[in-house]
Amino acid sequence: MKLSLIIPIYNEEKNISRLHHSITQTMTENDYNYELIMINDGSSDRSIEMIEALSKQDPHIKYVSFSRNFGKESAMLAGLKSATGDAAIILDADLQHPPELIPQFVAAYKEGYDQVVARRDRDGEHILRKIPSQLFYKLINFNVDVDLVDGEGDFRLISRVVIDSILSLDEYNRFSKGIFEWVGYSKKTIPFKNVKREAGQSSFNFLSLLDYAIDGVLSYNNKPLRVCFYFGTVTLIICLLYILTTLIQIIFHGIDEPGYFTIISAILFLGGVQLFSLGVIGEYIGRIYSESKRRPHFIVERTNVEAMKHD
Ligand code: UDP
Ligand code: MG
Repeated sequence: MKLSLIIPIYNEEKNISRLHHSITQTMTENDYNYELIMINDGSSDRSIEMIEALSKQDPHIKYVSFSRNFGKESAMLAGLKSATGDAAIILDADLQHPPELIPQFVAAYKEGYDQVVARRDRDGEHILRKIPSQLFYKLINFNVDVDLVDGEGDFRLISRVVIDSILSLDEYNRFSKGIFEWVGYSKKTIPFKNVKREAGQSSFNFLSLLDYAIDGVLSYNNKPLRVCFYFGTVTLIICLLYILTTLIQIIFHGIDEPGYFTIISAILFLGGVQLFSLGVIGEYIGRIYSESKRRPHFIVERTNVEAMKHD
């Protein structure tokens, strides 16, 4: 059995050699047949030089280097495309995903599971990240057809059938947490303790996580549009009832002078509902726009993977 380890790398010069060391140790201890696929996602530091140097010493290393930063989703996709193993494992470069868990993944794979997912707790995480993340999972599970679990991320083993299913989805806006769940197959969860990043800084801040959350909510189905529809319908009915009662009053008692408050509230409320709905519709149109351009997910600048040279 051959394992493909996939590592997205964006400005990780401080972590690369430690990561390589730690992975090599786990893999040789367990005598695994493996390849180590490093995807340089347009790092602006010395990451790619370090990867190339390592690849000259270690024949397990395959690398793909992008022409600019295309984001972690694109990096993972490039890794899956380059993988030739019977199963792939995706790990972060900052050692937040301990390679020591790999033997447990492989054991579960041998039991017959197609997806083995590591689930971390949120111990030691900053409160400003923890609470919004938990809210996000509440919101998204209300909206989405597939069930997303807090703490389950990209750190997982997926078998060849899962890799091929994922590669067959070529949507441009990728939200891999959802894609992994969407393709299905048998799944086993392995809990692990949250660890702090080894060195360097996280590439995700509050705003980029918010963007990510919106992607997650919108990338699955039309439920937000449906919510606008219901909201609009209810408002319309209330307004019609109001107009009707006022009209009846006018017919029987004549026109009342003071109506300022009602008019202002109606205008503001309806304006708000309309803007909100337009925003939701706009988000979908934006997505249709980017899907319809059919641009590639990434541009490869250099690589030692034959299959990726023309991608
Ligand atoms: N990463 C990437 N492209 C990006 C941002 C991040 O390939 O645009 C990689 C990064 O090098 C790391 C992984 O994705 O290996 C997770 O990133 P990070 O640790 O910054 O995220 P966090 O752990 O804070 O969610
Ligand atoms: Mg990290």
